[in-house]
Amino acid sequence: MIEQLDLARLQQSLAGSPLAEWADDLPAQIGAKLAVGHGDLERWQAALAALPAITPSQTELVNEFRLDAPLDEATREQLLHALQGLIPWRKGPFQLFGVHVDTEWRSDWKWARVSPHLDLKGKRVLDVGCGNGYYMWRMLGAGAGSVIGVDPNWLFLCQFLAAKRYLPDLPAWHLPLASEELPAKLQGFDTVFSMGVLYHRRSPIDHLLELKDCLRKGGELVLETLVVEGDAQQVLMPEDRYAMMRNVWFLPSVPALELWLRRAGFVDVRCVDVSVTSVAEQRATEWMRFQSLPDFLAPNDHSRTVENLPAPTRAVLIARKP
Ligand code: SAH
Repeated sequence: MIEQLDLARLQQSLAGSPLAEWADDLPAQIGAKLAVGHGDLERWQAALAALPAITPSQTELVNEFRLDAPLDEATREQLLHALQGLIPWRKGPFQLFGVHVDTEWRSDWKWARVSPHLDLKGKRVLDVGCGNGYYMWRMLGAGAGSVIGVDPNWLFLCQFLAAKRYLPDLPAWHLPLASEELPAKLQGFDTVFSMGVLYHRRSPIDHLLELKDCLRKGGELVLETLVVEGDAQQVLMPEDRYAMMRNVWFLPSVPALELWLRRAGFVDVRCVDVSVTSVAEQRATEWMRFQSLPDFLAPNDHSRTVENLPAPTRAVLIARKP
């Protein structure tokens, strides 16, 4: 599996950069994690191995994720079955040679809220908690020079590798690491994304400091997280679950989050979007058959969760490392 991660080419791409030493340590670090592995990894690798060889005749990453090529029905069936072997698919959607991977999330809607506020041209990007890498491809579509994603979830890594199988030459790398496993003071990225991660962290300020540590001087943070209404002193900590999710710790108001960012040493802090998550944006599909947002909201009042807390609202903030 380690070959599929394409680390040698990552090392080449980072040679001479502040990240070169880190890149050289990655094969050993990830090799050790792979040796422990995950009970389902063999099954997912079998699904990857079952993907048919296809060369895209058209690649669209700007307006959506879409690959096209003339395909016979048998090959499309083979592709469909292999991709179904990687269910549940949460982030997307992916249009792969006529197979529409209709994911739980309309991540393209989030990207449409985030991307107009960014200039990624030529940037070296880190996506922390990148999931299956959906946004990484869209970042390349927006002109990023290279994108590294980190996410400790092995299924999401395999889903990323399914897409990478058809885009082997694009500068995108998914590393099965948690953000805590990044070395201190990387200081090598122009743009760092943390989307949908902060509320899962017990120490959100430490998370912001980790993210700042990954940025070069002058680099930009893009932070997306759950928020509540209120002033700079307003933060919600759920007693137990939030919208059925375990491990949700802090939901700040936008002014509180801006204050956290300033206290963490960021400047030019600004909120560019606040959106209530709709049941059209997050829902069960044939590619993700478990419960989803419609089940997590109060049946008669979509402004509340089943725990009677404010329904999920997400903000996008941008800040700069001085
Ligand atoms: N960024 C994507 C996915 C958000 S879901 C989006 O906005 O849609 C949160 C992701 O964070 C999951 O994929 C989970 O595996 C990952 N994650 C959880 N803990 C993490 C950690 N400590 N470091 C990095 N990623 C983490």
